Amino acid sequence: MEKVLTRNFGLENSHRLATYLKNKGYEAARKALTQMTPAQVIEEIKKSNLRGLGGAGFPTGMKWGFIPQANPKPKYLVVNGDEGEPGTFKDKYIFERDPHALLEGIIVTCYAIASHKAYVYVRGEYVKSMQTLQAAIDEANSSGYLGKGIMGTTFDLDVVVHPGAGAYICGEETALLESLEGKKGFPRLRPPFPAVVGLFGCPTVINNVETLACVGPIIANGGGWFAKLGSPKNGGNRLFCVSGHVNKPGVYELPNGTTLRAIIYEHAGGVPNGRKLKAVIPGGISAPVLTADEIDVKMDFDSLKSIGSMAGSGGIIVMDDTTDMVWAAMVAARFFAHESCGQCSPCREGSGWVYNNLKKLYHGGARPHDLANLPGIIGNIGGNTICAFGDAVTMSVGSYVLKFREEFENKIKERVCRI
Ligand code: SF4
Repeated sequence: MEKVLTRNFGLENSHRLATYLKNKGYEAARKALTQMTPAQVIEEIKKSNLRGLGGAGFPTGMKWGFIPQANPKPKYLVVNGDEGEPGTFKDKYIFERDPHALLEGIIVTCYAIASHKAYVYVRGEYVKSMQTLQAAIDEANSSGYLGKGIMGTTFDLDVVVHPGAGAYICGEETALLESLEGKKGFPRLRPPFPAVVGLFGCPTVINNVETLACVGPIIANGGGWFAKLGSPKNGGNRLFCVSGHVNKPGVYELPNGTTLRAIIYEHAGGVPNGRKLKAVIPGGISAPVLTADEIDVKMDFDSLKSIGSMAGSGGIIVMDDTTDMVWAAMVAARFFAHESCGQCSPCREGSGWVYNNLKKLYHGGARPHDLANLPGIIGNIGGNTICAFGDAVTMSVGSYVLKFREEFENKIKERVCRI
């Protein structure tokens, strides 16, 4: 299989400019800036079927095309490196092992949307990532790959690293913009969309780190080449983060459309100690859980959507048959209740009610009406909130109750105190 995102990961000093340049580094950016028009760059990205790999899966080329070029305001690129979705740890690898691949993607993207300033918003806990990225920016600035008139052209670009402060919701793109502007990380009502009114009220593209790391190879090899690597409408490879009950947890670069079964059993070494697989979260904790019978699904945005789940951030959490699914649902609910930003009542109050209800169930204090009320409480959050966080609570926690109902009912029958 052809490596795209991890092509440089194994090289000595893979984070340094000299190593990157030895391996065709910045040739794609040079090609875009000197041989292509911005419109041609956008066309190539559209052809590649590259989709937003932060979780939303929106077609990247289309997103860039929404920037109104006639608008006289400055345009911005904001790179979402907040990576707070539990089970996800791929952007960290790109920051620390191949930051110049990200910078090259940033250059090409900014050229395509006529932006001269990019902000990289990095998860606050990723101190080493920020240091490595800043060192790469400094190298690029002093070598003419960033700054004024980059690579001898008339194109100027300034890249700024901005640390997050630890709020999960700042990974939501409009909350991230608020945070960058120095305000509380509250998601914004849409419309207007960031492509029209984004950072500082200006047209803004927000892309994930992994998405942008794909841009250089697409320009170098062509959109058609990238599209063929993946599955229909889901171009290229992506980084799958595998954790939980597997023999070889880690980050795996594989084509979109690889089956979940192959990822767990062929690449991550299967379930340890001969135990049976019970459940899998396929795309970060916000994705509805799958049962062991559903792992022949292809891992791409459309295939997972067709079975009621989502590819999300590519964070795969594997659970064996020792896992208590009421406990798993309770842990997910605790996370959501803790991270709700509190703007919308259904999410602020509902996520707490869901968590308290599940806590009661798990700890043996629940009555039948507690379980009977749960689907109603869960179902009234999604669709009634400002951002997709509310939908995530409904879809994620709701899937445990739906697919493992018997375990929830048993908790009421057993009434075992687990405190
Ligand atoms: Fe905040 Fe939740 Fe409303 Fe999103 S859905 S804006 S996280 S309260």
